[in-house]
Amino acid sequence: MNFDVESPSGREELQQILRSCQSKNFRLVAGNTDLLLELKKSAPEDLTLINLSQLKDEALTGIAINPDEIRIGALVTVAQICRNSFIRDNFPVLSEAANSLASAQIREVATVGGNICQASPSGDLSCALVALHATCGIMNMDGQIRHETLSGFFRGPGQTSLQKDEVLISISIPVNQSKKLRSGFIKIGKRSAMECSIVSIGYHF
Ligand SMILES: Cc1cc2nc3c(=O)[nH]c(=O)nc-3n(C[C@H](O)[C@H](O)[C@H](O)COP(=O)(O)OP(=O)(O)OC[C@H]3O[C@@H](n4cnc5c(N)ncnc54)[C@H](O)[C@@H]3O)c2cc1C
Repeated sequence: MNFDVESPSGREELQQILRSCQSKNFRLVAGNTDLLLELKKSAPEDLTLINLSQLKDEALTGIAINPDEIRIGALVTVAQICRNSFIRDNFPVLSEAANSLASAQIREVATVGGNICQASPSGDLSCALVALHATCGIMNMDGQIRHETLSGFFRGPGQTSLQKDEVLISISIPVNQSKKLRSGFIKIGKRSAMECSIVSIGYHF
């Protein structure tokens, strides 16, 4: 299912679609860089895909910089993170993690929300965002938003607290006022390029 990109409120349409799909076998999809690989291995015949990538809602697609927090929409791409100068200057751990993820081509379509919701132990942005004490904004099919720390959101490899009627909308990071910033990301894998990490370290203090 795709969204009407002219729709005034993509979020309301998303709620309607979530409601209508509750009895179905469905998956949300954003950049499709993780899900495609999974579905190539095995795709149930009755599977419905809800494609979020055409949503134009600013809450999902934008980066909002406020005095005490920065809010990143779930559909913001990894490349947008790499290009954002505020993130580069204030959150080097996130900028470095984004720059280390896959290839330039994949970074243009892969989303922050997809990286988190995949809940892979080797997720580069997930590691950086936990170091930044990020919180998730999660919307259910009635439009109610709940907030949860990212470390609480992860329940195990491939497992999150997301319910069937919920979608990740945004991630918020508290802005650190300290000028003495020690922040970075180290990734250790078998190869130096296009590699998922074996061990990664994200630090920010
Ligand atoms: C060749 C290759 C190299 C890669 N290298 C790396 C790497 O170095 N580091 C790394 O961390 N990752 C890597 N990845 C994995 C992948 O690119 C990232 O995890 C990416 O950020 C996933 O985002 P996506 O938008 O493509 O997610 P999708 O594939 O669209 O979705 C992933 C999962 O998240 C769910 N989902 C997506 N958006 C939402 C939402 N808003 N709300 C609820 N659920 C949602 C989907 O249902 C699905 O289960 C690589 C992938 C490939 C193919």
